[in-house]
Amino acid sequence: MIGRGLRAELVAVSQELHRRGWVANHDGNVTARLAADRFVATPTATSKRRIDDRNLIEVDGAGKVVGGTGKPFGELGLHLVIYQRRDDVGAVVHAHPPYATALAVSGSRLLERPFIAEAVVSLGPRVPTVPFALPGAAAREALLPFVAEHDAVLIANHGALAWGADLEQAYLRLELVEHLARIATLAQATGGPAYLPDSALAPLLEARSKAGLGKAAERAAAASPRPVVACAPAPHSDVPTIAPGNRARVAALIREEIVRALKE
Ligand SMILES: [Zn+2]
Repeated sequence: MIGRGLRAELVAVSQELHRRGWVANHDGNVTARLAADRFVATPTATSKRRIDDRNLIEVDGAGKVVGGTGKPFGELGLHLVIYQRRDDVGAVVHAHPPYATALAVSGSRLLERPFIAEAVVSLGPRVPTVPFALPGAAAREALLPFVAEHDAVLIANHGALAWGADLEQAYLRLELVEHLARIATLAQATGGPAYLPDSALAPLLEARSKAGLGKAAERAAAASPRPVVACAPAPHSDVPTIAPGNRARVAALIREEIVRALKE
């Protein structure tokens, strides 16, 4: 059966969201791409504790159920916006992890500037907050401007959302957002996080690009005769090299990303 491994992984991630206390009641949702226009998803109105292969559903790119007996969750549109905009994305995970959600509901900007070097490599210079919008079309429109340049966001008065090449990467990004939110919150007791100096950004973003992470690296990869791997799991992994002819282009893209980060 096509996608059996993916379905099993989606079940495991869903149950993990509950085990870690990142969801309550029927909160949270997980999807993964089975084919260009077909996705496996958690059903609505089901605790993530009770997700198993039998209650998963499959939907098309318009959100119509094409497999399974359950109904799609209300936030499915947010997932589909990401898949439509980013063909490199294979999975989306949403939950209400307490520390990240605490920042999202308080309007905190603690994750808007970098304070841990490795997180810049994994997630980019900041985790932005999508402004509050009512569920449905308004929420999708609010998210859209953040999709191309980011891999994880907080959603104001709501929770956190992360996406990646596969379920593992999307899950790890959500985990890192929650970890950063927890560290930033704890650091408040001793004066708040000291942010990284601006001069640290260039080498960190270069490492991010070399690891095949982030929008700049993806755009460089698209133009490269020897494609950069799009989903290196961590900055410590074997990193692919950038073709010499593309170094100037990558440097320009990194500069763009730094300028954007400093402006924001
Ligand atoms: Zn939610």
